[in-house]
Amino acid sequence: MQMENPALKHFVAQMGHELTLAQVLIRRSGTGYELRHAEDASAMPESLRLVALAEARALAQFTAANEFRPLKSAPTLQRGWRITAQDDAELETALSRLYPGAVADWHAAQSANPPVTNYRDYAERQSGMYRITALLSDAQAADVIRAVCDAKLCLKRRLWTVTGLAPDAAPGKSLIPCLEPCAVLMESARRALRADQQEKHAMKLAAGAEAG
Ligand code: SF4
Repeated sequence: MQMENPALKHFVAQMGHELTLAQVLIRRSGTGYELRHAEDASAMPESLRLVALAEARALAQFTAANEFRPLKSAPTLQRGWRITAQDDAELETALSRLYPGAVADWHAAQSANPPVTNYRDYAERQSGMYRITALLSDAQAADVIRAVCDAKLCLKRRLWTVTGLAPDAAPGKSLIPCLEPCAVLMESARRALRADQQEKHAMKLAAGAEAG
């Protein structure tokens, strides 16, 4: 028996006839749905490649230029396809492959106390190679966040913050919320801290050489 998913139920109940989730246009079609790239909204169905649910993950893995998409929320989803979902369960499957976790996060963000983890708390929880991300100052972390979470690179709307940086405003971002820093952000934070440490080390050596 199919388990009911409250997040999906809520999502479907408020979507109306159609809804755009990041770059995917979802339209009701009979008792099911049709999904396609939002920029193909007015394309004739027969001009779009019919993609099976089983292929949806592969579709989201690569750009039209066949480059890997480490961030599924990057605005680089390829065009020219459509997926049909017979019912809510198939819609859930399709969305979970195109935008993993998006519906659950959207649902969580509607709650009175969304489970948002800010940069400082998240970085302090890290172990291993990411422990050093806690050493970034607020200003340095804000610079990394501005660069990595820019709408040109990611369509999720960042709800978490670091001191001195506001959450993302809705315009330019999508309905998909970002509740905590992602792996791509943390890797950029780690690299920024390493670069800063190396720069300080080089300056120290140069100062030592001048004094000597
Ligand atoms: S941390 Fe930034 S780049 Fe990563 S998913 Fe969230 S908004 Fe996007």
